[in-house]
Amino acid sequence: MSFQRWKEDLIELGRLGRRIPARIDAYGQLAPEKGLFRLEGTEEMRQSKEYVMARMREAGLKVRIDKVGNIFARKEGSKINRGAVMSGSHLDSVLNGGMFDGPLGVISALEAVRIMNDEALENERPIEVVIFTGEEGSAFKKALLGSLILVGKMPVEEAWKLENNEGLTLKAALDRFGLRGDFEMDLSEVEYFIETHVEQGPILDQEKIPIGIVENITGLTWVSAILEGEENHAGTTPMFARKDALVAAAKIVLFANRRAQEMVRELGGSTVATVGRMSVLPGAPNIVPGRVEMGIDIRDGIEEHMKNLMDEITGRMKDLEAECGVKTSITVPFYHLPHPCSKVVVDTIEKAVQGMGIQARRMNSGAGHDAQNIAEKVKTGMIFVPSVKGISHSPMEWTNWEDVERGIMVLTRALKDLSKLRI
Ligand SMILES: [Zn+2]
Repeated sequence: MSFQRWKEDLIELGRLGRRIPARIDAYGQLAPEKGLFRLEGTEEMRQSKEYVMARMREAGLKVRIDKVGNIFARKEGSKINRGAVMSGSHLDSVLNGGMFDGPLGVISALEAVRIMNDEALENERPIEVVIFTGEEGSAFKKALLGSLILVGKMPVEEAWKLENNEGLTLKAALDRFGLRGDFEMDLSEVEYFIETHVEQGPILDQEKIPIGIVENITGLTWVSAILEGEENHAGTTPMFARKDALVAAAKIVLFANRRAQEMVRELGGSTVATVGRMSVLPGAPNIVPGRVEMGIDIRDGIEEHMKNLMDEITGRMKDLEAECGVKTSITVPFYHLPHPCSKVVVDTIEKAVQGMGIQARRMNSGAGHDAQNIAEKVKTGMIFVPSVKGISHSPMEWTNWEDVERGIMVLTRALKDLSKLRI
């Protein structure tokens, strides 16, 4: 394998969209002010997609773009009428993100195909390298956008109308750069999918295990709540007469945290609940808070647990109406079911790892990925590589080059095997 090829690709993609332009090739060069802002529909995204498409064409792949800007690059198979093996990820970042979340999966898949080319390997099934549109939701406010449309959970016309912060629709943003095509990928012609991704958690790094084989992609739901109390003077309003929206919200923060911990203790599993967003209005020290807007993130590998915790939290909020005199309104912006990975794909990855004498462990994915949508239609698996200190969605996100390389080797082996599987 040419060591420089994939590394150069990741470094170049890491340069595009950084606030402070920098070619970063070592952990020590990372800095909090050097975050990546590569949002879907921006000039930096155009450059990134053009860069990768050029590499895809160099590798002899046939590049096709669908109606929402998902990009597919195909290496034909030697046997016709066999379902394809697909692999890839996304190129967009969160606001102030890092350089591995997404691009690692795209470049790993591309490199796997280049290795097969170098070895003049005849894959029987076609191989499709995919770049999903707008996975992070940072521009068009809808996470996992490209895969959502691919599996038919959102109509194309509806997606086209989504607007970014500049008021530009997805359709206009894609058209601006000629990145809207008319190809339609039929997932019934895809047999297997593997997404390689950084773990985004601390387990592999702490346990010094280079490869994670994902068994379950976690379910994820958000609860958005508005708590309305009564804004009043902090000096003259006696404690008994208050309708303090923040005091009520604080009870929810503690309740969600305590219940998630109890569930993990009692049931095992991977339940997590986080109140990560809260706006306190009017937001002055001398005014009793009249309104709180809060966002709660709930995740679990088991749907029943996720649903129960969501019901408990929303039920607890309703109790606050009597307890704290606040009115509550609750919305659930999305509810993604957990998805088990395909046994065939998981076993293939495990076999690949064992064949190469690389240490690995099975695990759940705690973050949302396009793979969870694709898993609804296609036999799907994920390969995780370690995130240094478990950090991601941050300028300090890093994966060591030797771990990237091992991930590519495992993916390549798994894609070779899957492209010949006769199931
Ligand atoms: Zn990602």
